[in-house]
Amino acid sequence: MNDFPLEPDRAAMAEMGGLVLDRVLDHVESLPDRPAGNPVDPRLTADLVESFLSPPPEAAGDLRALLDRLDGAVDCALETSGPGYLAYVPGGGLYSSALAEFYARGINKYGSFAFAAPALVALEEGILRWIARDVCGLPDGSTGLLTTGGSMATFSAVVAARHDRLGEDLADGTVYVTAYTHHSVAKACRLAGISARNIRTVPCTDDLRMDMTAAAAMIGADRAAGLRPFLLVGSAGTTDAGTVDPLPAMADLAAREDLWLHVDGAYGGFFRLTERGRRRLAGTERADSVTLDPHKTLFLPFGTGTLVVRDPAKLYAAHDGTGNYLQEVVSAGGLPNYAHMGPELSHEIRGLRAWIPLHLHGVSAFRDALDEKLDLAEQVHDVLSGISALEVPWRPDLSTVAFRVRSRSSSAAALEEADQATRDLLARINDDPGVLLSSTVTHGRQTIRVCVLGHHTHADRIDEVLELIAAQAKQL
Ligand SMILES: *Cc1c(COP(=O)(O)O)cnc(C)c1O
Repeated sequence: MNDFPLEPDRAAMAEMGGLVLDRVLDHVESLPDRPAGNPVDPRLTADLVESFLSPPPEAAGDLRALLDRLDGAVDCALETSGPGYLAYVPGGGLYSSALAEFYARGINKYGSFAFAAPALVALEEGILRWIARDVCGLPDGSTGLLTTGGSMATFSAVVAARHDRLGEDLADGTVYVTAYTHHSVAKACRLAGISARNIRTVPCTDDLRMDMTAAAAMIGADRAAGLRPFLLVGSAGTTDAGTVDPLPAMADLAAREDLWLHVDGAYGGFFRLTERGRRRLAGTERADSVTLDPHKTLFLPFGTGTLVVRDPAKLYAAHDGTGNYLQEVVSAGGLPNYAHMGPELSHEIRGLRAWIPLHLHGVSAFRDALDEKLDLAEQVHDVLSGISALEVPWRPDLSTVAFRVRSRSSSAAALEEADQATRDLLARINDDPGVLLSSTVTHGRQTIRVCVLGHHTHADRIDEVLELIAAQAKQL
């Protein structure tokens, strides 16, 4: 009997690791055959859910038995990494990143201050500089922070913008978004102390992009009313339809009006690795700050977002803070102290989960995978456009295609009928375990979305999904 059960010996550790590795390999291998949606009736999962709500036992358990229990929980979950998951924004889950994560947790180094692990902080900093300069096109000196997700990245961006442009007096600061801006932006603003009253929804043009004439007029009116416009937010790929706001015109407006320009590239940002993406996301390089989500568009497992900023000093100014107990902290060779760049103090070496995949597979593997997703989305657009019962309003800017049932006329009754038919069509498509699509509302109309982003999603599955949609649409 081991006196210190929290410290298993090498043989025990190897055995435990083997058990977990086997489960993960089984899971990854089975992804193509697993249902894309939640396969289990919620009423049947009640007992399972209840069992996981119970507190941990006093006595030791058995890893094999615990993993068996977990299998049940894993089976009643959306298969966000599977090839047929085309709902919301699919999750990645690169195996190489899971290994990196295991390694990072195994060595468990402290990444909050550069002096504590200078080379590992440099590793993370290298990823951030690459994202800031090579991916986003920001100037030398730009860098940022790896966060737990896009929402946290945007939160720190808003805090930096607010601190830089408003100082301590927040009451009159106004922010400009559209109805298709991700809700995490408004949430970040409220968390940052900006009144919901001062978040302006700028109208969109027919193609779901910010109407720049309306934006300029609203900013002018707010200024005339004594308010302080300070933040303009552009979407580099909306969740609804993957559309990109007119970023160059937004950068012009921000410069003219002295606003902080934040670009939300949580979904779209990494498409800048491709030639097409770089063209469609032109203007990103003029932003003050950009959110990107490696757990979406770099295929990493959930829990990794990125904020990059043009001027890191502004991020520091907004998040700085220290205590007497930190008096031994010294600066280390021009490297960042992440504790002073965001809300978190303790910070894992988050960059490892990107560093191992990027170095192991090479950037070109990611570029090719993203190009493949753009190709597949164009194919979805072209095939669905050829189905007369459907309406495909927009050619995809990125890898999301929005469509709906065509309305017989523009009368309110006909539109309502088409909306109901769209809901029914989605339900019938999702009856097939090989696919999961989701829906949204665009210009007041029910809209189904196909978001192609999983690294396991290839032409074979997309062909099957298109055949399924065509067959279901025939029955309309
Ligand atoms: C997913 C998403 C977010 C939020 O990011 P999280 O990582 O889920 O916090 C913000 N904006 C857009 C466009 C997104 O797709």
